[in-house]
Amino acid sequence: MLYYSTNGQSPKVDFKTATINGQTPDKGLYFPEFIPQLEKSFIENIDEYPNEAIAYEIIKPYVGNTIPADVLKKIVEETVNFSIPLVPINEKIASLELFHGPTLAFKDIGARFMSRCLGYFVKDQQKKVTVLVATSGDTGGAVANGFYDVPGVDVIILYPSGKVSSVQEKQLTTLGKNIHALEVKGSFDDCQQMVKDVFAHAADFPQLFLTSANSINVARWLPQQFYYFFAYKQWADKNNPPVISVPSGNFGNICAGLLAAASGLPVKHFIAACNANDTIPEFLNTGIYPEKKSVATISNAMDVASPSNFVRIMEIFGQQVPDLKKQLTAYSVNDADTKATLKKVFDEYQYLLDPHGAVGYNALEQYLSGNILEKGIVVETAHPVKFYDVVEPIINKSIEIPAFIKEQLEASQQVTLIDNSLEALGSFLKNQLM
Ligand SMILES: *Cc1c(COP(=O)(O)O)cnc(C)c1O
Repeated sequence: MLYYSTNGQSPKVDFKTATINGQTPDKGLYFPEFIPQLEKSFIENIDEYPNEAIAYEIIKPYVGNTIPADVLKKIVEETVNFSIPLVPINEKIASLELFHGPTLAFKDIGARFMSRCLGYFVKDQQKKVTVLVATSGDTGGAVANGFYDVPGVDVIILYPSGKVSSVQEKQLTTLGKNIHALEVKGSFDDCQQMVKDVFAHAADFPQLFLTSANSINVARWLPQQFYYFFAYKQWADKNNPPVISVPSGNFGNICAGLLAAASGLPVKHFIAACNANDTIPEFLNTGIYPEKKSVATISNAMDVASPSNFVRIMEIFGQQVPDLKKQLTAYSVNDADTKATLKKVFDEYQYLLDPHGAVGYNALEQYLSGNILEKGIVVETAHPVKFYDVVEPIINKSIEIPAFIKEQLEASQQVTLIDNSLEALGSFLKNQLM
């Protein structure tokens, strides 16, 4: 399998090079040359496969011969070695709980897969491998956790000051060792821009081998397909496939779902559930892609004004918006409705959503109210305890904090406050790493 650039100006590369590069040299995104089609018998008999076998089957064609089969099997096993249950909330809606990994968010899956692939690929690299990550909240923790104490790899995490939850901030800043947390005086989009700018100036850092770990990296994006198959495996009514609602920010997660569907996974319809950052809902409604600035919400991991992965979604649908709209509906849900949904679902069904899941649930309900024969899945992207400071006042109750999170909340932080500029990031790299 080769990957081309969505900007069309960079050479095609294999999975190894795409993973190491992160972004294409022409500042596009890597996209697979073709979408593998799964055997019908595989889908029909999916109940009989253990999760790691499903994951291996899905990822194998994308990795090609860049990782030997036995190594890839081990990587995949370690990626999915926690439970990913489909939990019914009521007769119509079930929750796909993606928060049982080490940092309590779905990003653990992509981050675990990518860190292990990258670890394999850079084993004999001469330069110091430096992974740059801009995070709106959850990516940083998952990536930091995946790379913690990996020899020869430094991780630089940029997060927007004052815009991540206290649990998230602790997950970024308390690891230490090879994990460097930078608190940026700016927004998530600023952080993302700084990472892009450093790549454009890579020649200024000759001792460093720079790579990224955002959802644009194919090794993070592609394994996110796994759990859509795990969901289908657990879906009782195979004759009536689910509508799947995905709380969306940078659109990597939902793009993986759409890719899975393009490979043959039965899904009725996808819902992109956005918060007040409504660029894509507006684009699908008006046909005009608006220029927006991100706004802060209580579902902060989705505070993204210009979702990077949307170009990949357009690529899956051959740039045909009408085809895309047949499979995808996007909604924007404001904070007030998010809170009301979280409270309602807790009061009526004793199921506690996190703010991101609540956005997903609200959007799914809107869709199902006009499509009464359908049933759906809300992808629950984070554990509510990660956002206890938001959730507790809404339900007027304290939620139990797991012991390992409590420990983290008490640990001391190591963090550097920096300006929102390429110069500030550049001098950190020079002073700390070179
Ligand atoms: C990152 C994140 C999202 C958004 O996922 P994208 O792939 O960026 O669309 C949603 N919910 C939570 C909890 C997240 O951490």
